[in-house]
Amino acid sequence: MSKPSAEAASAPDTAPDIAPGRLTPAEYHANFGDIESPLQRAEALIDASRCYFCHDAPCIEACPTGIDIPGFIRKIATDNVKGAAVTILEQNIFGGTCARVCPTEILCERACVRNAGEGRPVNIGALQRYATDHLFALGVEPFQRAAPTGRRIAIVGGGPAGLACAHRLALLGHETVVFDAREKLGGLNEYGIAAYKLPEDFAQNEVGFILGLGGIAARTGQALGRDIALADLRRDFDAVFLAMGFAGVNALAAEGEELAGVEDAVAYIAQLRQTADKSTLHIGRRVVVIGGGNTAIDIAVQSKRLGAEDVTIVYRRGPSHMSATDHEQAFAQTNGVKIKHWARPRRLLARGHHVAAVEFEYTRIEEGSLAGTGERFALEADMVFKAIGQIMLPDPLSEDGRVVLELKDGRIAVDAHHATSLPRVYAGGDCVASGQDLTVQAVEDGKRAAAAIDRYLAKR
Ligand SMILES: Cc1cc2nc3c(=O)[nH]c(=O)nc-3n(C[C@H](O)[C@H](O)[C@H](O)COP(=O)(O)OP(=O)(O)OC[C@H]3O[C@@H](n4cnc5c(N)ncnc54)[C@H](O)[C@@H]3O)c2cc1C
Ligand code: SF4
Repeated sequence: MSKPSAEAASAPDTAPDIAPGRLTPAEYHANFGDIESPLQRAEALIDASRCYFCHDAPCIEACPTGIDIPGFIRKIATDNVKGAAVTILEQNIFGGTCARVCPTEILCERACVRNAGEGRPVNIGALQRYATDHLFALGVEPFQRAAPTGRRIAIVGGGPAGLACAHRLALLGHETVVFDAREKLGGLNEYGIAAYKLPEDFAQNEVGFILGLGGIAARTGQALGRDIALADLRRDFDAVFLAMGFAGVNALAAEGEELAGVEDAVAYIAQLRQTADKSTLHIGRRVVVIGGGNTAIDIAVQSKRLGAEDVTIVYRRGPSHMSATDHEQAFAQTNGVKIKHWARPRRLLARGHHVAAVEFEYTRIEEGSLAGTGERFALEADMVFKAIGQIMLPDPLSEDGRVVLELKDGRIAVDAHHATSLPRVYAGGDCVASGQDLTVQAVEDGKRAAAAIDRYLAKR
């Protein structure tokens, strides 16, 4: 049913095939277990020995958190693995997560000089994991807080940005209170990142490690705009850091979007991450994913790994325009996901109240902008996932019905020090436009904002 046609297609006449338990317990276990095997000591030593320990190492520049990469690798090479972990965590308290989720192929490893000679970088992410796993297994607290300052900072959002900020402020002797709308801290580490990248309780264990420093109080189930107000936080705390990420998703703007079986990919992934027994999750036999980023890749691969037979990502532009990296696109394809480029959804076709197919129009670039060609085709679907980008919802930032902060491009506007337009209020992570929407960037934002808040408090 994928023949191009100028006419609109009609919905197929078969009932939607959506079911749980498509796989055996062993298959679920394999599909949602750790995707990478950790390095063994001998492998880590060999990998570490490949590092040239460059002066002015380009990999440090390429890491948004500026980890001293040659420094930690040298420590691994001399069997000081705990020291290596401390070097990592000093710059990036989420070094354990980042070792598993960073797209290293566009960050540190892309900059590695070994690429030039051998076409293969030092395995920086895996070495980072080797070191941080070692420290976590020891169960020791590597940091000590400075003397108490008596200052209190409210942090809204307990994801990577909020917790990185809280940890740095606590280290400097301040008291922090982290408010989060959800029941668990961790943000998208807990509710968004693909299950096989952060399997089991990794995200919660890391949150526990971060809180273990002390000076960070958690208030979960507390949403700004619902349970707490920005005006109250500004009154009761010395400073406020906003790190709420994205709470909304873009609409498809295609007819039939409200049909049953059309799901928001991020919400489904959150449910998947919170479901211990993956065999209870319902998934379609034929799944269509609309989008071109991380989320599209992750929902497509996880659908496949839940037992969907036929999964197709459809993206409106070409492969090089996708925000998912080449590595991620290839990963989806090796997992049996098809990727179809240059097509956009025009309408969703129904059987009763349920989606049965998506009608697409081919696209091309005309005079610099995207245009439909008029040619259409349809893909049958039992489930359709929307993965076309998330947005920040500004409503919680309102006082007396008015958003009190300056926004820029739909996110919170900040200066180079993460200060917003409101005095004593800072922001970072996905809710500001500071760089790439990646975990490692959110961590760096939190760290920088903490430094700025500390400087501000020192002057008062
Ligand atoms: C499906 C998916 C997969 C991803 N995969 C990767 C990946 O593999 N690698 C990578 O580097 N990046 C990945 N990312 C991006 C990465 O997860 C984010 O860039 C990062 O989590 C941003 O951190 P943050 O702290 O700004 O926001 P979040 O992690 O979103 O945390 C925000 C927190 O604020 C809370 N919150 C929201 N609104 C309120 C409110 N009104 N009051 C109180 N609390 C509130 C939320 O509950 C949440 O805990 C992925 C994103 C998605 C959606
Ligand atoms: S935090 Fe990410 S980008 Fe930085 S060195 Fe580690 S894996 Fe590379």
